[in-house]
Amino acid sequence: AKSAGRGTFRFFEAQMDMRLQERRLLERDLRQALATNQLEVHYQPLVDCDQVKVLGFEALVRWTHPERGSISPAEFIPLAEESGLIIPLGAWVLRTACTEAAAWPDDKIIAVNLSPAQFRHADLAREVLTILDETGLPPHRLELEITEGVLIDDTDRTLETLNTFKEAGVRISLDDFGTGYSSLSYLQRFPFDKIKIDRSFIWEMEKNPDSMSIVRAVIALGRSLRITVTAEGVETQEQLALLQNEQCDQAQGFLLGRPLPLRDVGKLLAEPRLT
Ligand code: C2E
Ligand code: CA
Ligand code: CA
Ligand code: CA
Repeated sequence: AKSAGRGTFRFFEAQMDMRLQERRLLERDLRQALATNQLEVHYQPLVDCDQVKVLGFEALVRWTHPERGSISPAEFIPLAEESGLIIPLGAWVLRTACTEAAAWPDDKIIAVNLSPAQFRHADLAREVLTILDETGLPPHRLELEITEGVLIDDTDRTLETLNTFKEAGVRISLDDFGTGYSSLSYLQRFPFDKIKIDRSFIWEMEKNPDSMSIVRAVIALGRSLRITVTAEGVETQEQLALLQNEQCDQAQGFLLGRPLPLRDVGKLLAEPRLT
């Protein structure tokens, strides 16, 4: 039994080594990807619930690896955060999204995700303002999406950065709302313009009365705080109908549109009513 145990240990050790090795290789490839245009930004429609019309798009980064094909951001964004690569990668996404969105009709907004590591980086506010200036995108057309992870770090500095964005006219969204810990105190403390209800609640709404109650409560909370509420992950007509019934402001999800490459955004803009 003893030797079998040791064998098992060696096996796990070898597995760990491989995972570490694999991560290192992937990190090297990501660095390469950033330098050689393997990254692309796709755009998912953000829709007004009652009009069902496109208000703008969320920028979502895409990576096509030369050998492995498409790799999910859920896999490589955490890696980029740990390695520090998220700083140049995040700046690239922001610059690309702002440049491309500047060519859209001027009532269309562009939402860009910012990671906690970008907030820890000293120059974030200045970098965002520089990119707006250089791309000519009016600040009121930009929305920055952040998660709770950003808020737990260094609250004074984070608040200062968020206030700088506010003063410039940039809007701020709280992403994945409801999945973390003390979201309610954050709503009081930080200047959010929008809450995005996490898709896990939207998916359960039809069959789970508790989820429906939570969604209803968040919509009411948003209304009384004058914060726009967006439902994420809307996949069915039934879900959209429930949200319309609750007078939810905005929705996003595969029912309303998948993330699209830039060339398909133009078609959608020409034909703005979706259902
Ligand atoms: P997120 O910010 O919550 O983005 C929404 C994710 O949900 C996207 O996945 C989108 O494709 C997916 N989604 C939207 N509607 C539906 C739906 O109806 N059903 C289902 N099943 N999924 C839906 P994606 O593009 O794989 O991105 C995953 C996460 O990676 C994002 O979650 C975000 O946290 C991160 N991410 C993506 N792009 C960036 C980026 O440029 N910068 C940073 N910092 N993070 C990014
Ligand atoms: Ca997001
Ligand atoms: Ca989200
Ligand atoms: Ca409306």
